[in-house]
Amino acid sequence: MKIEFCGAAREVTGSCHLIHLRNGKKILLDCGLYQGNDKKMKDFNENFPFNPEEIDVLILSHAHIDHSGRIPYLVKKGFRGNIYATHATTNLCSIMLLDSAHIQEADADFNNKKLLVKGRSKDLIEPLYTKEDVPPAMEAFVSLPYDRWIPIDENILLQFKDAGHILGSATITLQIKEKGLLTTLGYTGDIGRPDRPILRDPKPMPLVDYLIMESTYGNRNHETKSLEQEHLLEIIRKTCIENKGKLIIPAFSIGRTQEIVYIMNQMYNEGVLPKIPIYVDSPLAIDATEIYGSHPECYDEELSSYILQDANPFGFKTLTYIREVKDSKKLNASKEPCIIISAAGMMTAGRIRHHMYNNLENPNNTFLMLGFCAPGTAGDLLINGIKEIKLFGETKQVRATIAYLPGFSAHGDKEEMKQFIANQKKVRKIFLVHGNYEAQLAFKKELIETGFNTVVIPELMSIHEIEHVE
Ligand SMILES: [Zn+2]
Repeated sequence: MKIEFCGAAREVTGSCHLIHLRNGKKILLDCGLYQGNDKKMKDFNENFPFNPEEIDVLILSHAHIDHSGRIPYLVKKGFRGNIYATHATTNLCSIMLLDSAHIQEADADFNNKKLLVKGRSKDLIEPLYTKEDVPPAMEAFVSLPYDRWIPIDENILLQFKDAGHILGSATITLQIKEKGLLTTLGYTGDIGRPDRPILRDPKPMPLVDYLIMESTYGNRNHETKSLEQEHLLEIIRKTCIENKGKLIIPAFSIGRTQEIVYIMNQMYNEGVLPKIPIYVDSPLAIDATEIYGSHPECYDEELSSYILQDANPFGFKTLTYIREVKDSKKLNASKEPCIIISAAGMMTAGRIRHHMYNNLENPNNTFLMLGFCAPGTAGDLLINGIKEIKLFGETKQVRATIAYLPGFSAHGDKEEMKQFIANQKKVRKIFLVHGNYEAQLAFKKELIETGFNTVVIPELMSIHEIEHVE
């Protein structure tokens, strides 16, 4: 068999890897949207490097849009196979893909209005897909449990195992029989972190012969959990109590938002959280939080016992969820110190853009980034000290404080990733994906020093032959 790396190769977005079997079958691992602002993004998203009609099966590691976001487009372009995912991933996709369709439509509308003003009606663009394309895509999902070997073909067994990254996230292991020989191929998807709130720790994968592995934080380690919480409290006190400003936290609607709300919920119950209003301003986050509430099979022991004392771990007295646009707009006029948690996490779209527009120029405010922001996104530019930024056609000065707590990331750091694959004693080759090249080079060196002999950093669209294990 061969693996073709069709996305997230020396990059952190657009995950998509294609396995070509000798019998002609084609298995796709993830079908992510490329998120960013450049022309490359448009080309990547619109042009599959394969014919979707020829893909037999799609296996999805988790619901994040950079792994799942082109599924409706894949189905629109003729894919007719099954999409295998865990139960929680399927549920999350049902809201996330609709939200993604909405963003595609809104972006196309926005651009087309500008083109019409310029008299360029010939250049109007179409959204990648629309809300109508989502239900047929959801029809193709087949939900599977964790930890069981499930036959998906007469020659292929599939097992999902907890990846501890977001609700429903899984590593993928495939046992593939070709010409009477069995090869075990693993794909980590995004590797989560041990000892994080809400989710169970990442579980070791079965022993594999070949491994496709993420490497986002291949060159760094995170802060310890207690330090992170201390820093978070310091930032809240400084911004909202001393400066009487607003603390704006851009957060992915799924995963990051629930984690930060759950942490604040615990701080509230411990009496350490200042009594200021906290808003979660994201309809998608509200829907996702409901889905989090309905998948106790994914909870870790701490949350499982915590909900015995607090039935709603994602809600407390000073917290308000905001769904309606009119209520979101009221936050702009309000002068009260508060915390606003809003999406998108990398500040590329969504209501967070309005909060940037209204709050970036006030030096009393703080924008707090949690976790990874892809290069070139507004979140990344702010972390790197950009002085002004263009929003809705206007230039805004960055006068607010920009704070960064990378340890809130849902991705394992260098040591955690090494620990995660410590059991892989018979792996013959590791392919590093989903990382910046610099982080990957550093991680490759570490892995080789640890005793993993063959580590490859595939280029985009490169094809690698997988030799059978005798
Ligand atoms: Zn992810």
